[in-house]
Amino acid sequence: MGGTASTLRALGSPAPAARTRRVVQVGAVAFGAPRPVVIAGPCAVETREQTCSLAREVLAAGADMLRGGAFKPRTSPYDFQGLGEEGLRILQEAREETGLPVVTEVLDVRQVDLVSRYADMLQIGSRSMQNFPLLREVGRQPLPVLLKRGMAATLHEWLCAAEYVASGGNTRIVLCERGVRTGWTAEYDRNTLDLNVVEAVRRAVDLPIIVDPSHGTGRAHLVPSASLAGIAAGADGLIIEVIGLKTRRADVLCDAEQGIRPDMLARVVRAVGQVRAAREEIEAARASGAEDA
Ligand code: PEP
Ligand code: MN
Repeated sequence: MGGTASTLRALGSPAPAARTRRVVQVGAVAFGAPRPVVIAGPCAVETREQTCSLAREVLAAGADMLRGGAFKPRTSPYDFQGLGEEGLRILQEAREETGLPVVTEVLDVRQVDLVSRYADMLQIGSRSMQNFPLLREVGRQPLPVLLKRGMAATLHEWLCAAEYVASGGNTRIVLCERGVRTGWTAEYDRNTLDLNVVEAVRRAVDLPIIVDPSHGTGRAHLVPSASLAGIAAGADGLIIEVIGLKTRRADVLCDAEQGIRPDMLARVVRAVGQVRAAREEIEAARASGAEDA
């Protein structure tokens, strides 16, 4: 880890004592403010009906932002790759209907202009975390960036990726822990959600950090507890994949096993506030020096 903070020239290296957190604003949504942000939506934009009805459902459940991939990074080139620009148009419609700001992935340097015309926030996926030309390109444009951790990235590599973005002038960066590959991966989950890294990020930089319990576990039944655990660990928010009420799980084209339903999302949103309050109490005791932990 040595030297990480000193390499973060554009981001700066906040003194641990100062602990002021950078707030990244996406429209009316504030990452790094006291209230955790919940982003929710489908893994991929599949149809207009699926996305627009789901957007209404996640809004009703209390989500602050809409997610959904129009350009999907798939392991196999023969799997559904996303609807491309048509998917972006559908996301724009869903935003107009619900008022929810939209975050969507940009996979390629050549797509940055196109995706920027539709999105409120650009997502850099796990597989692109070290696509340095792409990082530089999103660093040269004004939209905020959701920077997911590479699935085998060290904290140092992840923060250097953030630095690539920041060095282009764009410091509106939100980090996202989305699970890493370990020796146990796939035995009972898809990835190992590394919640220890949340506090490490908070100590290293002042950027907001959120947790992705969906890719972090890969199993719908693990998502609610992983969501609460993420907030307890200090995350500024969550990004959660949801499957709409009218959609059959068997029909979902991408990440079918990990989407939760809107009613469970509503429960998670409510519980997030309670967990945040519990965490604040613990942190206040720690800050007052009453404890040595
Ligand atoms: C996603 O959030 O749509 C996604 C592909 O996640 P990740 O890059 O973390 O695998
Ligand atoms: Mn997904």
